[in-house]
Amino acid sequence: MSKLNNKVAIITGGGSGIGKAISELFAQEGAYVHIVDLNAEMAQPVVDSIIAGGGQAKLHACNVAEQMEVKRVVESIGRVDILVNNAGIAHVGNLEKCSIDDFDRVFNVNVKGAYNALYAVVPVMKANGGGAILNLASIAAVVGISDRFAYSMSKGAIYAMSMSVARDYMADNIRSNSISPARVHTPFVDGFIAKNYPGQEAEMFEKLSKSQPIGRMAKPEEIAKLALFLCSDDAGFMTGNDYPIDGGFIKL
Ligand code: NAD
Repeated sequence: MSKLNNKVAIITGGGSGIGKAISELFAQEGAYVHIVDLNAEMAQPVVDSIIAGGGQAKLHACNVAEQMEVKRVVESIGRVDILVNNAGIAHVGNLEKCSIDDFDRVFNVNVKGAYNALYAVVPVMKANGGGAILNLASIAAVVGISDRFAYSMSKGAIYAMSMSVARDYMADNIRSNSISPARVHTPFVDGFIAKNYPGQEAEMFEKLSKSQPIGRMAKPEEIAKLALFLCSDDAGFMTGNDYPIDGGFIKL
């Protein structure tokens, strides 16, 4: 039996990488998937291919950093059973290389964007008797990553935001968890390599892969399977926690 039959899911940043894999898997499992993404050109083909495969999906072109835009999208959807706060951006640099503009840019998307979605969706879930929330943190939230000052801080905020919501809305039957992937091979990583190591893409890809204890990056589909479990009723007893999916990065 499909695990998300009759569920309505919002996936932010569902047009690429991890969000795309989550959107595709959730649609396969019967959910009506609402992709909320800034980049409509990239996200529309994801929606089109879900529909072509017999699934249900809709694109909402929206900047998650803009509260009014997010509010309008959530109002237009109505019932929401699942929210995946996945939209995120990175910044490369330590504290001294992180200007206030860099800080604001990362926090506006990664932290304020997640807050905006939660602020709009949680009252809807409460009114409908509950829901499941999944927030994309990162190993950067748990152990920090060199040269990712703003990004690590933003993911630490996601980790705490997720726990706070879990505690406050447990009585409303709302579960909230985060997941912390190590490197996942997505356009996020390809873009980072292309920008910072032009002409050395293959070597850098190999180096980043070998820097994971397991010897490779995760596939977006592997992250989507954990997301499916945590957002499905199979995980009904799981709330208020973070789940690393890290190829051994944190402990080995
Ligand atoms: P990606 O760049 O492939 O996709 C991000 C998506 O978010 C894109 O579709 C983009 O258009 C959308 N987006 C960006 N800013 C937005 C905004 N303001 N409003 C709406 N949509 C916006 O990234 P990814 O690698 O799939 O990462 C997804 C999430 O997973 C991010 O939160 C990232 O921090 C986290 N993560 C990624 C990795 C990794 O190695 N790729 C590891 C740990 C955590």
